[in-house]
Amino acid sequence: MTKKQRYEQVLQYFETAIANPETELLYDNPYQLLVAVILSAQCTDVRVNLTTPAIFKQYPTPVELSKATFDELFPLIRSISYPNNKTKHLIGMANMLLDKFNGEVPMTVDELVQLPGVGRKTANVVTSVIDAQPNMAVDTHVFRVSARLGLTTKATTPLAAEKQLIKYIPKELVHKAHHWLILHGRYTCIARNPKCDKCGLTDICPYYKKMQKKLGVTF
Ligand code: SF4
Repeated sequence: MTKKQRYEQVLQYFETAIANPETELLYDNPYQLLVAVILSAQCTDVRVNLTTPAIFKQYPTPVELSKATFDELFPLIRSISYPNNKTKHLIGMANMLLDKFNGEVPMTVDELVQLPGVGRKTANVVTSVIDAQPNMAVDTHVFRVSARLGLTTKATTPLAAEKQLIKYIPKELVHKAHHWLILHGRYTCIARNPKCDKCGLTDICPYYKKMQKKLGVTF
C-alpha cells in the first residue's frame, strides 16, 4: 500500500466514523477560543471547560482581561496545570492584543505566535478552528495516532509529524483531520490499551498488526 492510499483510506474512514469533527473546548468567539487553547496546554479540555465560564464572565473581552491583576485572575485558573505561567500569559496576551492588534485576535500563525503563551500548536489550532486554515496542530494524540497508523514515519518531533501530515492530507481536509486524529486518540486509539475492537482501521493499521504478531496471531 502506498502512502497516498493509506492516507486516502484513513481519511475516508474518518469521514464516516466521525462525521462532524469539532473541538471540545467551549467558546463563543476567537478571543474565548484563544484563552481556552492557551489554558489547555498539558490539561484536559474537560477541566478547561470547567474553568473558562468564570473567566469569560469576569473578563468578556481583551480589554477587561488586560486590566486584570495576577492576584485577581490566578484564583480562577488555580485548578488547572501551570496556573502561574498561564495567569501571566493570559494577561500578557490581552495586553498585546490591544497594543498590537487593535484588540482583535490575529488570524495568521506568524502573528499569533508573537502573543505570550502562544506557540505553534496553539496558533495552528486557533487558525484551523476559526478560519479552517490548513494548519495541523500536533498534540500528543495526533502524534501517537499518526505514528500508529503509519501516516507518519520516524517523526521524532511534533513539527516533523506536522510536515509529513500536511504533505499528504488534502488542504481542504486538514482542519478536519486535526480533530479526527485528536478524537480518535482521545476515545479509541488511547495511549495504553487502544480499543482496536472498536476501530475500523485494523486492516491497515501497522501498530495493530505488530501487536497481534506479538500475541502470536497470524494473518
Ligand atoms: S487499530 Fe488500534 S492501534 Fe490501530 S488506529 Fe485503530 S485503535 Fe489505534
